[in-house]
Amino acid sequence: MAVTMKIVLATSNSHKLDEIVAIWRDQPHDEAVASIELVGLDTIDTHRAISEPIEDGQTFEDNAVLKARHYAAATGMVALADDSGLEVDALGGEPGVCSARFARAIGPRPIVDQANNKLLLEKLKDTPAQQRAARFVCAMALVAPGDGDGVLVLVRGTVEGRIIGPGEQRRGENGFGYDPLFFVPELGKTTAELSGQEKNAISHRGQAARLMWRRFQRFGADLTRH
Ligand code: IMP
Repeated sequence: MAVTMKIVLATSNSHKLDEIVAIWRDQPHDEAVASIELVGLDTIDTHRAISEPIEDGQTFEDNAVLKARHYAAATGMVALADDSGLEVDALGGEPGVCSARFARAIGPRPIVDQANNKLLLEKLKDTPAQQRAARFVCAMALVAPGDGDGVLVLVRGTVEGRIIGPGEQRRGENGFGYDPLFFVPELGKTTAELSGQEKNAISHRGQAARLMWRRFQRFGADLTRH
C-alpha cells in the first residue's frame, strides 16, 4: 500500500496551496510511489503562533530554503516553500528578491501591486521595447525538520518574456503582481491575459512545482523519511 507523505506548505496564502495542488493533480501518478498530502500552514498553525521568518536572502533560493527551514523547525513537519519574483535585465536583475516590496508601498495587495508596476515602468521609461527582456523566477525548497543545514530538494522554474514597451498598454485582468506588464512573445499575450490553467502550464511556479513532483516520483517516501 502506498504511503502518504504529509507536507506543510510554508505560506498562509491559500491561493498558492490551491495552485500547487492543482498542478500536481494534473501530473502522472505512479500508484507504487507514496502519495502526497500538502497542507496549508493555517491548518497546522490554527492559533497563528508561528512567527514569520525574515526573508533577507540574496537569492530566490536562499529565501525559499530559509522559509522551508523555519517552518520545518516550527511545525516538526517536512516543509515546502517557494520564493518568486521578476528579474529585468535592463535593471541589472531588479526587482529580484525585492519584487513584492519594490516600491515600498504598504496596504492591500492591489495597491502594492499598482505601486510596484508604476515604479517598474518609470525605471524603464527610457528603455526601448527590444531591451526589456525579463523573466519570472521561482525557487522551491523541501526541507525536513532536524536536518540542520540540509535541503532535501531545491528546484528553480523560469519563464522568459519582456516588459511591455513605451506606448503599450497594460493588458489583462487575471493573475496578480507584474502580470499585466509581462508579455510572453510566443503566446502574444501578457500573463494577466492567461487563465489560471494556461498560466500554470508555462509559469515559473508551474515549472518548479512539476520539477518537485518529478523528484517525488523518483525518490518517493525516501525523500521525507526522517
Ligand atoms: P512571493 O514569492 O509570493 O513572495 O512573490 C514575490 C513577488 O513577486 C510578488 O509579490 C509579485 O510582485 C512578484 N511575482 C511573483 N510571481 C508572480 C507572478 O506569477 N505574476 C506576477 N508577479 C509575480
